Amino acid sequence: MASRNLLLLPGDGIGPEVIGQVRRVIDWLNQRANTGFECEKDLVGGSAYDAHGQAISDAAMDLAQSADAVILGAVGGPKWDGVAYEVRPEAGLLRLRKELGLFANLRPAICYPALADSSSLKRELIEGLDMMIVRELTGGVYFGEPKEIIDLGNGQKRGIDTQIYETYEIERIVRVAFDLARTRDGRVTSSEKRNVMKSGVLWHEVAVEVHSREYPDVELNHILADALAMQLVRAPKQFDVIVTDNLFGDILSDIAAMLTGSLGMLPSASLGAPDEKTGKRKALYEPVHGSAPDITGKGLANPIACIASFGMALRYSFDLGDEANMLDNAIAAVLARGLRTADLMGDGADPVGTVEMGDAILEEMERLAG
Ligand code: NAD
Repeated sequence: MASRNLLLLPGDGIGPEVIGQVRRVIDWLNQRANTGFECEKDLVGGSAYDAHGQAISDAAMDLAQSADAVILGAVGGPKWDGVAYEVRPEAGLLRLRKELGLFANLRPAICYPALADSSSLKRELIEGLDMMIVRELTGGVYFGEPKEIIDLGNGQKRGIDTQIYETYEIERIVRVAFDLARTRDGRVTSSEKRNVMKSGVLWHEVAVEVHSREYPDVELNHILADALAMQLVRAPKQFDVIVTDNLFGDILSDIAAMLTGSLGMLPSASLGAPDEKTGKRKALYEPVHGSAPDITGKGLANPIACIASFGMALRYSFDLGDEANMLDNAIAAVLARGLRTADLMGDGADPVGTVEMGDAILEEMERLAG
């Protein structure tokens, strides 16, 4: 039995509550599907600050570097609002992203049939939606230099951010998108604003080159980022894999995700470059939501975003597509049965808590396995 190493970083607020349900899914898979997951656990965010005065310790970083995948709950909360900027809870997350070299952020937007009526779009526009947004995560305008505010001395200031992309950064992110498309519907839409930005011109050029050189079997389309924003709310089902830069991806992935329902439902993955020897990528999986201080400790948190993030780990870090499909099907079945945590409540639904939702997902896994 192959051993697969996971590092669990529950973090703060509802993080430990939702990771607790992921742990049950891992134990179930180990027992019923012989998956051989071995879990280590450590602190991140405010809980790490309380224990070590740092948002993540060097020892936890070493574990993250050696793990096959890191599964994170959430960080932050009002308790740590006043701590120094360098050790604030989010610094733990940023250190993980930076030191693991996680340049590709994957945000799926999937509409579970049972939740189609809770979308802000009409059912027919959203039912069956299954798209993936691939956002470049470590470059672009959030990191480019110069980045500063200059006092012009005449009562005016100048704020500067710099959008920079180099060829290798575009090559590696579009490769992630093309590889994903090969496992899905075979279509990539690359988005930039080459009509007004030089970095967009280069982005387009490199995407075309990588496509014709390495991925001629995948369909490649291009769309300007502002037009994409419109199309996402007009006819989102036309897209399979979308690849775009850090800034546009930040905004467009939030639009796409919210088409499909609550924050408690949204998973994500962040991947690094493939290791030259093993071909394995460093990877961090986490729900999109935060630590939800308003419901912490009440047993109300929806664990689906975190469980579905682990589902992405099954698919992208461990090549366990059958198990990932089973988990997705179990989630869909539970929703079809009408079970809802409070964040998903509509008329006629049963409100369940975090643990009951975990119980129901495991019951469905058992049924699907049987
Ligand atoms: P949040 O995502 O924590 O919560 C927003 C709202 O959504 C709240 O009403 C919350 O109860 C609800 N919600 C979120 N996740 C839920 C779930 N799984 N089930 C049910 N309801 C859920 O965002 P916020 O309130 O803006 O931030 C709270 C803290 O989390 C802040 O300290 C913020 O910095 C931090 N944060 C962390 C991350 C992260 O860890 N990646 C992301 C966003 C915010």
